[in-house]
Amino acid sequence: MRAQPTASHFVDGVYLEDTAGEPFDSIHAATGEVIARLHAATPAVIEAAMIAAERAQKEWASWMPVERSRVLRRVADLMRERNQELSELETLDTAKPIQETLVADATSGADALEWFASQAASIAGEAVPLGTDFAYTVREPLGVCVGIGAWNYPTQIACWKAAPALACGNAMVFKPSELTPLSTLKVAEIFMEAGAPAGLFNVVQGFGAVGAALAEHPTTAKVSLTGSVPTGGKVYTTAAAGMRHVTMELGGKSPMIVFDDADIEDAIGGAMLGNFYSTGQICSNGTRVFVQARIKDRFLERLIERTRAIRIGDPLDPETQMGPLISQAQREKVLGYIEAGKREGATLAYGGGVPTGAVYDDGTFIEPTIFSDVTDTMTIAKEEIFGPVLSLLTFESEDEAVARANGTPFGLAAGLFTRDLARAHRVAGSLQAGICWINTYNLTPVEIPFGGVKQSGLGRENGRAAMEFYSQLKTVHVGLGPVESPY
Ligand code: NAD
Repeated sequence: MRAQPTASHFVDGVYLEDTAGEPFDSIHAATGEVIARLHAATPAVIEAAMIAAERAQKEWASWMPVERSRVLRRVADLMRERNQELSELETLDTAKPIQETLVADATSGADALEWFASQAASIAGEAVPLGTDFAYTVREPLGVCVGIGAWNYPTQIACWKAAPALACGNAMVFKPSELTPLSTLKVAEIFMEAGAPAGLFNVVQGFGAVGAALAEHPTTAKVSLTGSVPTGGKVYTTAAAGMRHVTMELGGKSPMIVFDDADIEDAIGGAMLGNFYSTGQICSNGTRVFVQARIKDRFLERLIERTRAIRIGDPLDPETQMGPLISQAQREKVLGYIEAGKREGATLAYGGGVPTGAVYDDGTFIEPTIFSDVTDTMTIAKEEIFGPVLSLLTFESEDEAVARANGTPFGLAAGLFTRDLARAHRVAGSLQAGICWINTYNLTPVEIPFGGVKQSGLGRENGRAAMEFYSQLKTVHVGLGPVESPY
């Protein structure tokens, strides 16, 4: 592997350290080893990043769109070229299996950069004839955008925010999660190598306080957060005080409805993908699996059979399909939910414990877990667990399934499996979610918008829609006749 990041922050085109900041470690959750020691950003580091971003943004916005597009495209190419080493670093940092990081992290970041590179060169306003006068609109950048990330997809989150932001002519200061600080520093290095102006994409490290300081900094024009609903509430409040733009990509408790005419193996595949990928640490996971009563026994039996075959182990081993959770604290939290499930009367159909043995003992591993006989009022059916815990509920009718699926304050995603075309679209139309999958689950290609409704968030990432959240419209009215003034 190439050299790891050499300092905590990347500001104004170079690595930067300030040892006065609160020290913290990046820990490989599979072994408990410390893989890097870092320092949280001090006010001086934050200030340096904001000044650099402000200056770089002015230069970047003055470039021809096609020149901006070329740089973003080069970043995408370099990320793809270095996918192996970026994925290894991501696996060390997040402890997600290398077989996942190789296909879902730097590569999806590169997809975003490539796709928004193509958008950068096609931003245009409209001309509006007004009789003798006319007007035109210009889509302008917002200025300096702050990105704040969660720990499950550090590179992807940084790129999903930076790609549309930079395509629109903004600069970015990004704060990764304190649990996964490393990979976005490598992305910042690549931006420089690709020819971006110094200061266009900066990375500063730290805990929530650093995120809060960035969100309320007077230079900040927009805050884009990927995180939990409680953090979203705080960041939104801070941003509102300065009338700043926001994008909020928050948590969920998404439903997946399996009708009795569905292809059962496909639906089980979707349910496993939507509960166990990344050890269940995915915001859009379909953690409430509603199965029509007639097929419940068959569904559960095959689900358990297939879950039993999941290979848990060293995330750097290409054969491993499931790694540990991100931290000991997260494992405690997930085990607490499993206890609540048992206590409140759900049937523990599979897993529920911690695997033991030499490979597992120093890590924060947990078994993929399936609860059946779950009811809507149980804690495991109401709260986001963010771990590999699948809750199986049964239903009789379509109306009942839709009403219960919508009975949550969240609205990030939803899925349904059926062979009935009319029902598929009718149900998708009734589900309260930012994205609905029919006969598939958790696919998030960059071409389509992604984001939540209700408590799950505001704004959209990806797709053309994202451009609207990183730009603002200016209208210019041109008077061509005499000024008609009553004075
Ligand atoms: P978190 O809310 O604890 O932290 C997210 C980020 O916010 C971190 O970088 C953290 O340091 C920062 N932060 C914390 N307090 C802050 C404050 N007061 N001001 C500014 N920044 C602050 O979330 P997490 O535990 O890292 O991630 C898991 C959560 O993220 C889950 O709820 C998950 O659903 C959500 N998530 C959502 C999406 C999405 O696209 N909707 C994607 C991934 C994760």
